[in-house]
Amino acid sequence: MYEKLLIKLVEPIIGKNNLILIDLLKDKKDVNEFKLAQKVGLTINQVRNLLYKLYSHNIVSFVRKKDKRKGWYIYFWTLNKHKVLELAKNQGLKELEQLRHTLKSREHKRFYICKECGIELAEENALHNEYLCTECGQLLHLKEDKAHLNDVIKQIDRVKKEIITIDNELEKIKLETEAKAAKEKKKVKKGKKKKAKGKKKIKKVKKKPRKKKVKKVKKKKAKKKVKHKAKKKVKKKAKKKKVKKKGKKR
Ligand SMILES: [Zn+2]
Repeated sequence: MYEKLLIKLVEPIIGKNNLILIDLLKDKKDVNEFKLAQKVGLTINQVRNLLYKLYSHNIVSFVRKKDKRKGWYIYFWTLNKHKVLELAKNQGLKELEQLRHTLKSREHKRFYICKECGIELAEENALHNEYLCTECGQLLHLKEDKAHLNDVIKQIDRVKKEIITIDNELEKIKLETEAKAAKEKKKVKKGKKKKAKGKKKIKKVKKKPRKKKVKKVKKKKAKKKVKHKAKKKVKKKAKKKKVKKKGKKR
């Protein structure tokens, strides 16, 4: 289902011959554009051109990383499933509107057709021409439209089902995203707890984000030292006071 929608959406943008690109991006994340070019058999510029076309519709997104040895940027591409579904849904809604319009006009109006040249006239126009063809002058016949009507009704059914499926998929993605966000929050909380527990462990870890923690720990220690000194001073003062008091007594 999703694949069908995806192809329907993407084909007009990149062309039938390049649909293999979508196969390579589907169900993956951050795909290296050089690998894409190699697999599709196009130059890197040709592939980038196609990807930019998709990007202009928000169908793909990218992250870029600098190649340290070569000094240039490499783009890593990801298909945006959520956006694909949204676009497909919009397309479906438009299609549905058109079909419903067709159905209404077919249900309420009668059409007349010339069997010679196939010209079709709405009833009022046919009446105006005394039921004669405007091209060849032959008698017009009432168009038997039941087959066409049934076809329109079937199409409406199909598009409706499509939209329901898309809505379900969108809901799934929404729930997945929420679950991920909740997990991330938990991780952050756990991280904070660890920070509080193991001061000794922190020094061993070399990851960047942890460096800050080391600094904070140092600051804490420094503060403690200050406090300690302050306390000593207070004690000393207290002693002096005591001495003075004792002196006064005497
Ligand atoms: Zn005719």
